Amino acid sequence: MYSDSLKPSISLVAGVRQIAAKTPVFDTRAIQKLDSAHYLHPFTDFKQLNEQGARVMVRGEGIYLWDSEGKKILDGMSGLWCVNVGYGRTSISEAVYKQMEILPFYNSFFNTTNVPAVELAAKLVEISPPQFNHVFFTGSGSEGNDTNLRMVRRYWDLLGYKERHVIISRHNAYHGSTVAGASLGGMEGMHAQGGLPIPGIEHIGQPSYFESGRGKTEAEFGIEAASWLEEKILAVGAEKVAAFIGEPVQGAGGVIIPPATYWPEIQRICDKYGILLIADEVICGFGRLGAWFGSELMGIKPDLMTFAKGVTSGYLPLGGVMVGDRVANVLIDKGGDFNHGFTYSGHPVACAAALENIRIIEQEKLVKKVASETGPYLKQQFASLAAHPLVGYVDSCGFMAGLNLVKEKSNVVHDCVLFTPEQNVGMICRGYMFGNGMIMRAVGDRMIIAPPLCMSVVQIDEMIALIRLCLDQTLADLKQRGWV
Ligand SMILES: *Cc1c(COP(=O)(O)O)cnc(C)c1O
Repeated sequence: MYSDSLKPSISLVAGVRQIAAKTPVFDTRAIQKLDSAHYLHPFTDFKQLNEQGARVMVRGEGIYLWDSEGKKILDGMSGLWCVNVGYGRTSISEAVYKQMEILPFYNSFFNTTNVPAVELAAKLVEISPPQFNHVFFTGSGSEGNDTNLRMVRRYWDLLGYKERHVIISRHNAYHGSTVAGASLGGMEGMHAQGGLPIPGIEHIGQPSYFESGRGKTEAEFGIEAASWLEEKILAVGAEKVAAFIGEPVQGAGGVIIPPATYWPEIQRICDKYGILLIADEVICGFGRLGAWFGSELMGIKPDLMTFAKGVTSGYLPLGGVMVGDRVANVLIDKGGDFNHGFTYSGHPVACAAALENIRIIEQEKLVKKVASETGPYLKQQFASLAAHPLVGYVDSCGFMAGLNLVKEKSNVVHDCVLFTPEQNVGMICRGYMFGNGMIMRAVGDRMIIAPPLCMSVVQIDEMIALIRLCLDQTLADLKQRGWV
C-alpha cells in the first residue's frame, strides 16, 4: 500500500495506538510526509503545502487544540465556524456510539424514515422561527444550498412560473463548494476555476461599510446596499427572479456585518416583488450571534434557511434546509416527486449527534449567554483592540468579530491608509497568531474570529491578551521591514 520510503514510522503507529492517552505522541515528520504523498487538502496550494508540511492536530478539549508537537492552541475559529459547544463532549460521542450500535445507517428514500431524523426534524422546528415546520436533510451546507436552488425552482414551476428561475446573491458571499454552492457564492477565485457561475445566478455588491461606505453613515449605507438588490431585480426582470440568498453575517468573506438597516430593507424589497428570501444560516445558526438563528437578530422572516456546521458542532457531517410554510405547502399540496436527495439525508448517527449537541446548547443556555453575557463582554474587549496602532476598524456581532489592519489610522474609517495586497500583512499577522498558539483567520488584512460559544469570560481575556501580543509582534515586524 505504501512505497517503502513512506511507510508509517514505528512511532506513528505507536502514536495511533496511544490515542486514548491524554496527549498522544506522534512522529510529526512521518505524518507530514505521508500527508504530502497522498492527501489533497481542500482550498490548498498542494505544492506549497508539500514544501511546508501540514500542521497535525491530534486532540481537542473545550476551546483548545493540541498539535502533534504537543503545542496547546486556543481555537478562535471553532474548527471551521462549527464547534459551537467546544471539543471533547463525551455525551455526543456516547450518543453517536449508542446510535451506531442500534442502527448505523438506513436511508430515507422509498417512504422510509428513522427515529433520530424524525426527532431532530421536530427539534429543529421547535427552535426555529414559527414559519418553519419542515426540514430537508443533506450531508453538508453546500448540499443544502444545492437543495435551495432546486427547491425554489421547483416551487415556482409548481405554481406555473417556469421563467422564475434566477437567484440573486452577493459578491464575496460563501455558499459552499459544489457547483451550485460555488456559483451561488461570490468568491472570484472559485468562479475563476471551472467556468462558474452556472447560468441563472446573479450577484450584487456586499454590504461592507468599511469597503464601500465612504461619505455615508452606516444606516444610510445599509439602505443603499439593499437598493442594489432592487436595481438587479429590475435589470433581470422581476418576473424572472426566484429568490435572493444571503448570509445574515458573511463569514468566509471576512465577517462582514451589515448595518442594522440592511436586512429589513432587503426583506421589504423581496416582499414587494414576491421573491423568496433564503438565509444561509450555516455559520450564523445555532447560537453564533446570540439567537438560535441570525435571521431573528436581523429582523427578517426568510422562506428557507440553510444550516450545517453548528447543528452538530462539527462532530459529524450534517446539513439541510429549513423549509418555510410558503414553500412547503406548495411542494406538499401539489404532489409529485421532488427528484432530489442524498444517500445520507437524515443519517441516523449524524442526527443523533445533532440532538445531543442541541441538548447541550439548551442545557448550558449558550444562546442566552452569547446574547447577554459573554457576547457583550467579547464585544467590549474586542473593541478595545481599536486602540492598537495597527487596527483601523473593529466590529463584532455575537461570537463573530473582525478587525482591519491598516498602515495609517484615521478617525474617519474610510481615510485609513491600507497596506498593499502584495505585502500580505494579514498572513504575517496570522503567522504570529499561530506561533503564539492562537488561531485567528486572515481574510486579506482583516483578522477574524468566531470562537466556541462555550468560551468563558476568563478565556475571552486570555484570547484578547494573545491577540494583543500578536498585534504588537506584527507591528514590530512591519517596523523592521520599514512598512509602517
Ligand atoms: C461552510 C459554509 C457553507 C458550506 O458548507 P459545507 O458543509 O462546507 O458544504 C455554506 N454556507 C455558508 C455560509 C458556510 O459558511
